[in-house]
Amino acid sequence: MIKKDYYEVLGVKRNASEEEIKKSYRKIAMQCHPDKNPGDKQAEEKFKEAAEAYEVLSDRHKREIYDHYGHEGLSNSGFQGFSGFEDIFSHFGDIFEDIFGFSGARGRSRSYARAGADLRYDLNISFMDAAFGLSKNIEISKLATCDQCEGSGCAPGARPETCRSCQGRGQVIQSSGFFTISTTCPQCGGHGKYITKPCDKCNGSGKETVTKSVQLKIPAGVETGSRLRLRGEGEAGDHGGPNGDLYVFLHVEDHEFFTRSGDDVICRIPISFVQAALGATVEVPTIEGKEKLKIPKGAQTGKTFRLKGKGIPHIRGYGRGDQIVEIFVQTPTNLSKKQEDILREFEKLSLTNSA
Ligand SMILES: [Zn+2]
Ligand SMILES: [Zn+2]
Repeated sequence: MIKKDYYEVLGVKRNASEEEIKKSYRKIAMQCHPDKNPGDKQAEEKFKEAAEAYEVLSDRHKREIYDHYGHEGLSNSGFQGFSGFEDIFSHFGDIFEDIFGFSGARGRSRSYARAGADLRYDLNISFMDAAFGLSKNIEISKLATCDQCEGSGCAPGARPETCRSCQGRGQVIQSSGFFTISTTCPQCGGHGKYITKPCDKCNGSGKETVTKSVQLKIPAGVETGSRLRLRGEGEAGDHGGPNGDLYVFLHVEDHEFFTRSGDDVICRIPISFVQAALGATVEVPTIEGKEKLKIPKGAQTGKTFRLKGKGIPHIRGYGRGDQIVEIFVQTPTNLSKKQEDILREFEKLSLTNSA
């Protein structure tokens, strides 16, 4: 395979300054970065070529060899280019940090920037609040970015110092025979930086536990198992990573006489056997007050009536469920002497009637 000219790869003149070379490389690296072009072989190839060209042209000694003896001169002096992305990232940690705001030292796993943990909060709400929705503040305790050091972990005025052992790459390269192995720097634990004067508020962790009030807007129609997601209200991320989310799990408490079936409200109401026999208009409770319900003559226990649109609002879309009223006939107790006499009379008449 014929290697391309390094100056051509970076699109610079042969007398380009170090600054021009760096600028041009950054541009190409940004365009062709594998994280931006997943699966694009051509971009990948360009990215590797540019890294190799930059490795040579940014090094005065190697550039000199290349200018005089070309590719052959370099390979004779032991330069082999890069074996892969990990290798590229571990070489140019600082440049990737400049470009992408994170150190490329750990390659495609994106450095130490990590999203914060998601949080779960369980909330009990009443049957009626679930039906009509509510606004509510909850207090959550969580790890947030320290407000004194803004997450840097450093005392006021101090800055993290670049680790000398790995020059800030977070990785050290060990040679053993033919192999070179890149491992996490034992001095800085892969951070690439040291905190020499830690922030006294968070002891250098960059985070502190805070209690925060969060406003919830619970829509009408939620039910047990409904979940609200509040983006970014979880714990603070590490090293510039985004915050986690807060999930609020709702549990709807039982009501003394309403139950739910989806968005329909169900209730059972008692009627006297006289009302059942003769028919009646009765008042039944709904979630929005009393409604009149006409019961026809001869209604039996277990008969149901539907009050259209008197149920729970649909959480998606418009409209509401119904209320379903189930009646049950109550047998009278503690009858007076007179009531008993009338019922006996009634029974006699019933027997004659059916005979
Ligand atoms: Zn702090
Ligand atoms: Zn280190």
